[in-house]
Amino acid sequence: MEPDASLFFQCHEHLLMGKGTPGEKYPELYYDELDKSIQEARAFVKAGGDGLVEAQPVGCCRMTEELVRISEETGLRIVASTGFHKMAFYPRGHWIFEEKEEALAEIFIHELVEGMYTDGACGRPECSISARAGQIKTAMEISELDGQYRKVFAAAAAASKETGAPIMLHVENGHHPMKYFEFLEQQGVRPEKMIFCHLDRACADMQIHKELAKAGVYLEYDTIAREKYHSDQRELEIFGEMIGAGYEDRLLFSLDTTRKRLSAYGGSIGLTYILDIFLDKMERQGIPQEVIRKISGSNPARALAWS
Ligand SMILES: [Zn+2]
Repeated sequence: MEPDASLFFQCHEHLLMGKGTPGEKYPELYYDELDKSIQEARAFVKAGGDGLVEAQPVGCCRMTEELVRISEETGLRIVASTGFHKMAFYPRGHWIFEEKEEALAEIFIHELVEGMYTDGACGRPECSISARAGQIKTAMEISELDGQYRKVFAAAAAASKETGAPIMLHVENGHHPMKYFEFLEQQGVRPEKMIFCHLDRACADMQIHKELAKAGVYLEYDTIAREKYHSDQRELEIFGEMIGAGYEDRLLFSLDTTRKRLSAYGGSIGLTYILDIFLDKMERQGIPQEVIRKISGSNPARALAWS
């Protein structure tokens, strides 16, 4: 679905994650209890949340049918992801390594246009349902786009150009986001189709944030209530600096929650943290209501719309 400007949207969350390589590496990346995830989603809707982007892609522990159930049970609007995660999150022999660029693009396009696959944990996905993905997730753990990464990024770019769907980029700490921007631009993806995530913790140089925003991409900040990276006060300063520089139309926010932070799973904050606490902090920082409404409503509506 595509959100409209009056809705409250968080643009990078993980409502639940199936068993697989991510959870084997990091225990907080395995949590598959549907009733708990429904409880979390319900609390979010009750607090005033309308929708979120679910950032787990096809073939990488995305629980596709459960996402549909959560949406049906709670009324939560979920924009699901096709695309790919870091290669370290796939088992050896996975189709993401085996398929050629064109075949990968076909899988992504199928998910965006026809419907999402419910299989594909290792072998090529084949069974799909009618619910479609709404964006293309991309991620990498090395700083050069070569080998596998050149192939999967090119496939994501092809799927975006074919459908008009946006590409979400997970940026690792210390990587230079401009490299990915330049690569996608060379592939013909328009800047307004790119959503860069995690730059608030991954990139200390605010000039780069501004350069990207000026080019027309969206910046999704999600290091809210993550003291191990920085305080909420620092997070507010980052928002403040970008708004002060005139880029309020390019900003999105979210929590990037996993098991560790979802309250239904005993985590520390819950999906409602922005609605319950962070919005007040933004207001006290002097960020006007109308700007907050852009970040939570009209910017996601534009960023996630296809055309
Ligand atoms: Zn994430």
